[in-house]
Amino acid sequence: MKKFTTILAAAIIAITCVIGLAACKSHTHDYGEWTVTTEATCTTAGIETRICKSDASHKETRAISAKGHDYGEWTVTTTATCETAGVETRICKHDATHKETRPIAALGHDWDEIVTIEATCETDGEMTFTCQVCGETRTEVIPALGHNFSKWETVTEVTCEDDGLLKRVCVICQEEEFEIIPALGHAYGDWTEPFERDGYFIRQAFCSNCGHIIEEILYSDGIEYDESDEGFIVTSYWGTSVNVILPAYKDGKPVIEIRWFAFHYSNLESIIIPETVVHIGEYAFDNCQYLTSITMHNGVTIVDSAFGNNSNLTDIFFSGTIEEWQNNDYLCFNSGLTVHCSDGAIIID
Ligand SMILES: [Zn+2]
Ligand SMILES: [Zn+2]
Ligand SMILES: [Zn+2]
Ligand SMILES: [Zn+2]
Ligand SMILES: [Zn+2]
Repeated sequence: MKKFTTILAAAIIAITCVIGLAACKSHTHDYGEWTVTTEATCTTAGIETRICKSDASHKETRAISAKGHDYGEWTVTTTATCETAGVETRICKHDATHKETRPIAALGHDWDEIVTIEATCETDGEMTFTCQVCGETRTEVIPALGHNFSKWETVTEVTCEDDGLLKRVCVICQEEEFEIIPALGHAYGDWTEPFERDGYFIRQAFCSNCGHIIEEILYSDGIEYDESDEGFIVTSYWGTSVNVILPAYKDGKPVIEIRWFAFHYSNLESIIIPETVVHIGEYAFDNCQYLTSITMHNGVTIVDSAFGNNSNLTDIFFSGTIEEWQNNDYLCFNSGLTVHCSDGAIIID
């Protein structure tokens, strides 16, 4: 059965072919008009067909080009605002489902500005912006202007000891500003040579700017004392200076006495004894081999042994007069010494 069917099909095909070939060759096609069998769309081609009038099984087909979109005008479908983009759309005249859209840029605000707070020298101001279109507002800081000061003027001149003062005034707001110039400080020169005054030995220095004077009381180191109700008593000396200046006062109390043996056997070359010292004790300067000069005041009592064995002692500087020296009747000094008194010098016999 299957074999029979196959043979039958082959026979039918063979016959049809023979008939067809015979027919084709028997006439010239006489085609009718082209008719659209598949419509072209905007994007796909269509087909048109024509049929032979002599044999309707004879057909010819050809493509019809795609039509392409035919868009209308752009129309706004979403309006742009100051801050958001809009949309415009156009529709194909062939098919309303064919649409194209494109954005419309946001318009941006149309600001109008007005100063709502004036800036001053020291405080910020404010500028307010209002959109003419949508009413949106925003503010911006107007920076403080800063003072516009005049030049500095001297209110108080600076000196060595007192601060100076400068002032300037803002030409806008009259604000005053002051600047202190620190006191210059004195510019002292070198110390003067020491000199005696009121029982103290003093040196001075002068300020080259203002003439101010500073003083320093000079003492010698290494002097030891005992303290009594009346004042201080020099008991011994261990300092290295061979030229000793005794202070007139110590801790607010006078130095009143040089005790026995205080300087004995020392290397002392000179000593200045202040007016506050009223007594010099036994052997106080005994055996001071190098002692050459003594400065002392009228009124001091000296025991006879105080200045024994001072072979180099040559000069005594005495604050009183010759008469006062003589009234004291000092017996402790060797002959040949020169005593320089306030009214002249004498030599001890
Ligand atoms: Zn034909
Ligand atoms: Zn279209
Ligand atoms: Zn706006
Ligand atoms: Zn100002
Ligand atoms: Zn000065």
